[in-house]
Amino acid sequence: MLTRFAPSPTGYLHLGHVANAIYVWGVAGARGGRVRLRIEDHDRIRSRPEFERALLEDLEWLGFVPHEGLDPIDRQSDRPGIYEDALRQLARTAHVYGCTCSRKEIGSERYDGRCRDRGLPIAAAGTSIRVRLEPGIEHFDDLRLGPIDQEPTAQCGDLLLKDRDGHWTYQFAVTVDDVQQGITTVIRGADLLASTGRQIRLAKLLGRAAPAQYLHHPLIANAHGEKLSKAARDTGIRELRAQGVSPEEVIGLAAAAVGLLPAGTPLPAADVRRLF
Ligand SMILES: [Zn+2]
Repeated sequence: MLTRFAPSPTGYLHLGHVANAIYVWGVAGARGGRVRLRIEDHDRIRSRPEFERALLEDLEWLGFVPHEGLDPIDRQSDRPGIYEDALRQLARTAHVYGCTCSRKEIGSERYDGRCRDRGLPIAAAGTSIRVRLEPGIEHFDDLRLGPIDQEPTAQCGDLLLKDRDGHWTYQFAVTVDDVQQGITTVIRGADLLASTGRQIRLAKLLGRAAPAQYLHHPLIANAHGEKLSKAARDTGIRELRAQGVSPEEVIGLAAAAVGLLPAGTPLPAADVRRLF
């Protein structure tokens, strides 16, 4: 079993990341698996080196040690050729096409495929790249939520791989990474549940024989019941550290917030496997 911890360096680590780390290292530890670190900096506009340095330092302070991807640091931005190669490979077996529609013109979450047969060049400036998806259910057994069916063509239509500004999309970059790095188990927050069927489909198109396993865990909500953002002052690891809270207490806080432990139970990173 190989799973991954894949933060984006677009902000500082917060309790939501710690909850994810508890599941990632906990499930891997309980199953004799390994954890790969992956810096998901495909968003070149919002990613910053200082956030990456802070993420790595906070992770080390907490005591979560990746088995892979640390030396050298595994960054999406360090290997653009991988995505170009994957796109070329995909285009041999699937219908990859250019699309000039703006988000406004599309007007919904689902793209209706209107550029599919226009024959637009995929390398042109201002043209995004999509791949045609055929109708059909993707079934998977979430390790926590049980059996789930999703129909990608009904949810999102033909999948966006590269946007009109020339950036690889999250969906494409992580799917290529998961396939190429042999990730067997994807452990992430329930906010990404809707992406799973389309990522399984895309992985198949990229040649993956057996899909990864998935586990979607609860998200930590703030006092207003909203998902935590990186801007949330009260839950930032830097702020908690500055207040003198210990790593064990921070892990205990995050574990309690997702219902894994009673409130006020400190837990060292080395012991998170006991929760699973
Ligand atoms: Zn279009």
